[in-house]
Amino acid sequence: MKAVVVSSGSRANIDVVEKELRPLEAGEALVDMEYCGVCHTDLHVAAGDFGKVDGRVLGHEGIGIVSETAPDVTSVKKGDRVSIAWLHEACGRCEYCTTGRETFCRSVKNSGYSVDGGMAEQCIVQADFAVKVPEGLDPAQASSITCAGITTYKAIKVAGVQPGEWIVIYGCGGLGNLAVQYAKHVFNAKVAAVDLNDEKLALAKESGADMIINPETDGGAHHLLQEQVGGAHAAVVTAVSKAAFNSAVDAVRACGKVIAVGLPSETMDLSIPRLVLDGIEVIGSLVGTRRDLEEAFAFGADGKVVPVVQMRPLDEVQDVFEEMAQGKIQGRMVLSFQ
Ligand SMILES: [Zn+2]
Ligand SMILES: [Zn+2]
Repeated sequence: MKAVVVSSGSRANIDVVEKELRPLEAGEALVDMEYCGVCHTDLHVAAGDFGKVDGRVLGHEGIGIVSETAPDVTSVKKGDRVSIAWLHEACGRCEYCTTGRETFCRSVKNSGYSVDGGMAEQCIVQADFAVKVPEGLDPAQASSITCAGITTYKAIKVAGVQPGEWIVIYGCGGLGNLAVQYAKHVFNAKVAAVDLNDEKLALAKESGADMIINPETDGGAHHLLQEQVGGAHAAVVTAVSKAAFNSAVDAVRACGKVIAVGLPSETMDLSIPRLVLDGIEVIGSLVGTRRDLEEAFAFGADGKVVPVVQMRPLDEVQDVFEEMAQGKIQGRMVLSFQ
């Protein structure tokens, strides 16, 4: 089968190779891939930012059809449409797994990083961790919800924003656009969207943002939010930039929450008096659990959230990675294996 693997030194640090899959082991299922989205995390993995993993099959926004299961598997069956998400497997026994925080399991395995992922014609999954895609949800759109959707849906859940409250989304790319949609159409919040790119802001507006802010032309987003709405109740930062994190802390009102989702490899500035005197919380949020993904899929199937996806053939994968690194992409690029 064809697979996109990490290949440091190659163009975009990836290559398309022929690969043989091993036989299934207990608890596993084989999935014939339909689609796999390309995520910024894939660029980080390919670049070796989390450690060198040459030869690893990338991809954690995969959707496909189960074609075979190990004899002991009962959670999925042949013909089911399932997801290949970042959460490949967690131990199921530790303090995180047993309290609804399985993505923080210390022995977690991640698709497309610590195990082979979904950017291939076929993929082996842990059957109990392959979340079923509901009827009525387009599989290419589902691929985007598998990472970008669940990540932003969960972040807004963690933010605890109530109907009518203001939430500001920093970064309006693949994640940010879905954050705007979940915040507006699922959580019923008032939404401000911040980005340096006017096209991405226009798309955010179309997707439901009540206020759009380009900090380069409108002045700092935090000034504007404090002036116009008295500060946001919460901020979700998907932007891969320290400046966005620093602005977010200043954009929320007292007792506001700043949810960190983007992964710039930098530190942010935190004024301790600001945290203490204004009761600000800064919280990291990492993808979401299987249950979060079921919920995020269900809102997609209801049409409340519609990921903006563009299909690309497998042989353009290096172009896609380069375009993504240059920030040229609107919505989500999805590789098609059909
Ligand atoms: Zn991702
Ligand atoms: Zn665990």
